[in-house]
Amino acid sequence: MKLSLSPAEAEFASDVRRFFAEDYPQDILQQMRGGGLLTRADHVRSQQALQSRGWLGIGWPREHGGPGWTPVQKYIFEQELERAGAPNIIPMAVIYIGPIICAFGNADQQNRWLSDILESRALWAQGYSEPESGSDLASLRMTAVRDGDDYILDGTKIWTSGAHWADWIFCLVRTSREERKQDGISLICVPLDAIGVRVEPIRSIDGTHELNRVQFDQVRTSAANLIGEEGRGWHYANVLLGAERLSYAHIGSKKAGLAAIRRIAAELPGDFGGTMLAEPAFRDRLALLDIRVAAIEISVLRALTGETGPATISSLKIACTEAAQAITELWLELAGRYRAPLLDRNRPDWSSAVPAAFRFAAPQTASYLFERAQTIYGGASEVQKNIIWRHLARGNMIPRPGQ
Ligand SMILES: Cc1cc2nc3c(=O)[nH]c(=O)nc-3n(C[C@H](O)[C@H](O)[C@H](O)COP(=O)(O)OP(=O)(O)OC[C@H]3O[C@@H](n4cnc5c(N)ncnc54)[C@H](O)[C@@H]3O)c2cc1C
Repeated sequence: MKLSLSPAEAEFASDVRRFFAEDYPQDILQQMRGGGLLTRADHVRSQQALQSRGWLGIGWPREHGGPGWTPVQKYIFEQELERAGAPNIIPMAVIYIGPIICAFGNADQQNRWLSDILESRALWAQGYSEPESGSDLASLRMTAVRDGDDYILDGTKIWTSGAHWADWIFCLVRTSREERKQDGISLICVPLDAIGVRVEPIRSIDGTHELNRVQFDQVRTSAANLIGEEGRGWHYANVLLGAERLSYAHIGSKKAGLAAIRRIAAELPGDFGGTMLAEPAFRDRLALLDIRVAAIEISVLRALTGETGPATISSLKIACTEAAQAITELWLELAGRYRAPLLDRNRPDWSSAVPAAFRFAAPQTASYLFERAQTIYGGASEVQKNIIWRHLARGNMIPRPGQ
């Protein structure tokens, strides 16, 4: 199946492509191409450049500052952003909580938070997981007890991406104990500089600091920061997770990754006198991944333009994240030949120790290691398979055991 764009969509795609080539900060693209790590300020600059065109809140309703794009335009935009090699939008505020505030927040919350998110004046973190509550998220224990106009929060969130540079965190907390563990959960936002909040770093296997443990010790936050109704947090959490799981598609970066692998493999010597790319086994793996990505692209587009249920979203989450990992495995095969050391890319001079031909190896090895997490975060693959089974069985599309 071949995707063809209407003339208006093709014009839109060239406008976006021109923006990244001419108006977007080129030093950020350069930094990304060189495999360096971006600072908070770089991410903010990147997002502000997108917002200078009104292109940040791409899934937001127009009345709250979204661009009013069709699903295909959103898809084109994401493809072009990734084709250009620009960093992805930090999702926690713009993709996850922003649309929830638009849909379920009150006017005061929309006034207080939405423009700060769109202007990247405030970054957010996602406080779902707890030390004993990851896959079984509804078993979470962090409490919020009402005290006059405030809530008092106690508990621990863990694996909190970007909490060390965020200004706010949205937390799932228990406001009451009910028979069903999914009931009595609420969604409350907390400024990360509140008294009693402690953010502790967790170093990940690629040597970077992205993850944190966030401790809440008698933290007082205004009841005006409760989103929607008390006790309805599980519903909002699941709406948010649907959007989160669909956002892992990253088709543009998968295609760009495969193209880069092909380019580099055409220059590296293989084992049989030719280049790496000339080796049939390597070519086969590349071709299979091309086919996989093309199939995923069609499925993602179908999901974006039609009715999407939880089973579809979960199958796409598995397909997209496993394909991303397979691409990093191919990178590792190229990198392995050069015995790349895992350099500390937090050092500004990290690449000066590596000959030019080897430079791709350090960031790609790091990426191989970090991307193991793709099939864990946003709900592990096993949990997605449980969701698929539950929804298909409910729709009687597959027989239940014993039937
Ligand atoms: C890089 C990274 C970033 C993250 N960022 C965030 C963040 O910003 N905010 C946040 O709130 N969380 C974040 N997380 C946490 C993530 O959502 C959890 O790690 C994930 O939900 C799994 O939970 P867990 O780690 O407690 O593993 P567990 O739930 O203990 O699972 C361990 C293993 O058991 C399997 N398993 C568990 N239950 C079942 C079952 N019922 N059936 C079959 N198999 C099962 C799992 O699939 C997994 O393989 C992040 C995680 C990572 C790795």
